[in-house]
Amino acid sequence: MTFPIEKFNTLRTPFYYYDTALLDKTLEAIKQELRPNHHVHYAMKACTNPKVLRHIVDAGFGADCVSGGEIQACLDAGFPADKIVFAGVGKSDWEIELALKAGIFCFNVESVPELDIINELAGQQHQTARVAFRINPNVSAHTHTNITTGRAENKFGISMEDMVDIVLRTREMSNVECIGLHFHIGSQILDMEDFVTLSLRINELQEMLESYGIVLPNINVGGGLGIDYEAPDLHPIPEFKKYFDTFRQYLRLRPKQQLHFELGRSIVAQCGTLVSRVLYIKQGAVKKFLIIDAGMTELIRPALYGAYHKVENLTSAEGETTYDVVGPICESSDVFVKDYRIPVSRRGDLIALRSAGAYGEIMASQYNCRTLPASYTNEEL
Ligand SMILES: *Cc1c(COP(=O)(O)O)cnc(C)c1O
Repeated sequence: MTFPIEKFNTLRTPFYYYDTALLDKTLEAIKQELRPNHHVHYAMKACTNPKVLRHIVDAGFGADCVSGGEIQACLDAGFPADKIVFAGVGKSDWEIELALKAGIFCFNVESVPELDIINELAGQQHQTARVAFRINPNVSAHTHTNITTGRAENKFGISMEDMVDIVLRTREMSNVECIGLHFHIGSQILDMEDFVTLSLRINELQEMLESYGIVLPNINVGGGLGIDYEAPDLHPIPEFKKYFDTFRQYLRLRPKQQLHFELGRSIVAQCGTLVSRVLYIKQGAVKKFLIIDAGMTELIRPALYGAYHKVENLTSAEGETTYDVVGPICESSDVFVKDYRIPVSRRGDLIALRSAGAYGEIMASQYNCRTLPASYTNEEL
């Protein structure tokens, strides 16, 4: 990626920079893979920056929401209501009512008590809510434990043993209609074997339902495709072909069944960069610290998940030395990388934290009374 350094130098740091040309290429790469029965719902929680959302809306994608706030944000951004799906273990009444009023495509329901409330609230509005059941497939994805969601011990979804009962239960209810099954096993998944395992598990569950004479029109396999944090310039676009081919090869769909995807990170991660400036270089007792003006308040993933973001000095290529790159926040976990080799840096140098488009800006906080970061795109600069 090339950055408009001259323009950056006129701006107050830290800020997020989005390369919408790369975003458009990424969206195009996904569209190349889609078949007429494939539907992508962008996972809003990865990034809700309106400038980014506009491109995703223009690509014709739907949205996957996990809160009422996200539903509102995606309606505001222009996503069509009938392409919105709504997941989450703890949907509040007002959120369910907002979704019903908007007329979303489907609630991804995560428990029996939630189903009962949706039925009740839909009844009050004289509506029938379309629901899919999020089934916990007990598949252990090979990723960070904090971002696996499909194991039996996780809080998400309905256990496989309860699937038939809950599907049958909807037949007795007057204001819900069961239209599918939903799954989401985790995030930053690079091993396609995990999606093979998920596909085979879904095949088993479909067979079980069929033995009760039930075929549901929609299968939603969630999101989770990972990206290359180590080499963003080598792999700016994730391996969508491998990903979609895996489902096409292993998942056995029934005639007319629609296949839904909820990609978040893989759509927006590589197009986003957190841009910061060097404040001080400090020689500690045992380490040399590169203190920058961005911290965990702008990008919490390293502190929260031990995640890695490539750090680049955009304004110096002189020699190389080892630093711990840290932010200004009063927390020992406010560290981006330790013992990291980059060019010798000076106060005022521009520092890029790469692959920060997903779970970056959206997780920013005002801790330490910080102001939320600004954002710019290549179109604006
Ligand atoms: C977070 C989430 C996604 C998106 O995950 P990515 O790893 O960003 O693709 C999809 N579906 C659900 C239900 C989620 O919670």
